[in-house]
Amino acid sequence: MKITDLLKERNTFSFEVFPPKEDVPLDALEHTLSRLCACAPDFISITYGAGGTNKGRSADVCRLVKESGRTALPHFTCIGNTREMIDEYIESYLDLGIENVLLLRGDLPKGWTGTNGDFAHADSLIAHFRERHPELAFGAACYPETHIESDNQEEDVKYLRRKQDMGAGFFVTQLCHDATAYERFAERLEKAGVTAPVIVGVMPILSRAGTIKMTLSNGCSIPAELAAIIGKYEDDEEGFSEAGKEFTVRLIERYIAAGVRGLHLYTLNKHKEIAEIARHCDIDGFRAKR
Ligand code: FAD
Repeated sequence: MKITDLLKERNTFSFEVFPPKEDVPLDALEHTLSRLCACAPDFISITYGAGGTNKGRSADVCRLVKESGRTALPHFTCIGNTREMIDEYIESYLDLGIENVLLLRGDLPKGWTGTNGDFAHADSLIAHFRERHPELAFGAACYPETHIESDNQEEDVKYLRRKQDMGAGFFVTQLCHDATAYERFAERLEKAGVTAPVIVGVMPILSRAGTIKMTLSNGCSIPAELAAIIGKYEDDEEGFSEAGKEFTVRLIERYIAAGVRGLHLYTLNKHKEIAEIARHCDIDGFRAKR
C-alpha cells in the first residue's frame, strides 16, 4: 500500500532496519524482521549504505520485508548515482512490487564536496523519480533541529518545501530527543506551507556511547532529562539501557500528545528492546487516530 494513502486514513507506526554487510548472512536479520513484524508495523524502511555502499543488500532486505507481508520503504541516495544508474537500479525493486521510496541526498563521504553524481540534492532526485515513476509514493527527510550543514532553519525549511513541491508526499524526521523542539519545527512548516504529513523518527536510547555519537554527529541536542541519564549511568550500561528505554517511552508519549502523524523507530536491527518499548506505548490507540 502507498504510505501516502495510508496516512490519509490514519496515523502510522513503522521501523527502520539496515542491511548487513555483504559477507554477513541474512539469517539474523530475517529473525529480527520476524520478531519486529509481531508489532504489526505499517511499513519497514531499509537504509541505503552510507556513501552508496552495500546497495545490493538493500534489495535483498526489501525482499525479506515483502515476504514477511509488510510494506517496504527502500531508501535511495544521490551519492555517486547517475540518472542511468538510478533507472537501472530501481528496476529490481519494481520487480518486487514496491510502491514507496524514501529519497535522500545521502551523507557526503569524507573528502567529497558534492555527490559525484547527477543529483546534487534530494529535490532533484525526487523530481527524477516523479518523472520516471509517477506511480510511486515519495518520502523525504526533514530535520526538526535543522540539517547539520544548513546555516539556518528558514533556509532548511525552504528546501523542505521544495522537496514537497517536487513530489514528496510525506517526510520522515531525523532523530530528535526533544518533542518541544519538534513542535516549534511543526509551526515553522505550517507557516512555510509544508502540508505533507510528517512521520517522526525516534532513536531508542539503548547504549550510552551510541546515543552520544549518533546525536552529536547529526547536530542534534541532548535535552537535560537525557543528559541526566547519561551522567548518572556513566559506568552502568544495563542501568543506562533501562533508563533509556523509559525515556524513549516518555518521548513517544510526548510525540503522540503533540499530534504527530507517524512514529518511525530506528531499530538498529534490535528486536527485543524495540518490542519492549512498543509494548509500553499505546500504539494501537495512536494508529486509530487521524
Ligand atoms: P537534502 O535535502 O539535499 O539537504 C541537504 C542539505 O542541503 C541541507 O542542509 C539543505 O538545507 C540543503 N539543500 C537542500 N536542497 C538544496 C538545494 N536545492 N540547493 C542548495 N541546498 C539545498 N543517509 C544514507 O546515506 N542512507 C540512508 O539510507 C539514509 N536514510 C536516512 C533516513 C532519514 C529519515 C534521515 C532523516 C536521514 C537519512 N540519511 C541517510 C542521512 C541523509 O542522507 C543525510 O542527513 C544527508 O546529509 C542529507 O540528506 P537529505 O536528503 O536531507 O538532503
